Amino acid sequence: MDYKVLRERMIKEQLVARAIKNKEVLNAFYKVERHKFIPEEFRGSAYADYPVPIGEGQTISQPFMVALMTECLLPSPQDRILEIGTGSGYQAAILAELVKEVYSIERFAELARTAEDTLRQLGYKNIKIRVGDGTLGWLEEAPFDKIIVTAASPEIPKPLLERLKEFGRLVIPLGDSFSQVLTVVEKQKDKLIKTEVCGCVFVPLVGKYGWRQN
Ligand code: SAM
Repeated sequence: MDYKVLRERMIKEQLVARAIKNKEVLNAFYKVERHKFIPEEFRGSAYADYPVPIGEGQTISQPFMVALMTECLLPSPQDRILEIGTGSGYQAAILAELVKEVYSIERFAELARTAEDTLRQLGYKNIKIRVGDGTLGWLEEAPFDKIIVTAASPEIPKPLLERLKEFGRLVIPLGDSFSQVLTVVEKQKDKLIKTEVCGCVFVPLVGKYGWRQN
């Protein structure tokens, strides 16, 4: 299978055709080999227009959603970004191409370990991964310029807002367990400015300030 051809087609037909415009973001999608983040048995779907299983009942998000969330963050080279929901590590790799440092938290140890192995093999040195409940944030490394939550939450986890810099941005799918609205939150003095981007469907954010485990 010629993954490079599939990747170029994905960028043209799924991202550019749906108005992903940021040149640096598109370049990151050219660079990062998405199939390397996907278990062998699903690699045939690595560049398809839908989420793909990665184990533990979790998924790597649809390419368009990864691109849209990345664009919404307005990544810049000096940024330190916190990601909640490492999953396969693909979103972290895309961000690592665009910003200074990426800190990513995953609740499943096995997923975190696999993502770490993949990212190490690909040579990323600006990504740190930790296992735990991401809704609590990463206190030792706070504050962050931007925060991205790649799982669905009923509300914005309070500790994440507290660990976001003044004028920082947070991107998060907010809603119930069936459907959510991708939301951008800007922190400005005592105000939070919220912008709704589009409808989306994510696996649940399970943690103290997300959904309770049942
Ligand atoms: N960003 C990932 C990628 O590029 O593959 C995809 C993320 S997947 C849609 C959502 C991930 O969030 C899952 O791996 C899930 O285990 C994780 N997750 C859910 N609740 C979490 C929490 N409280 N803390 C950390 N990770 C969590």
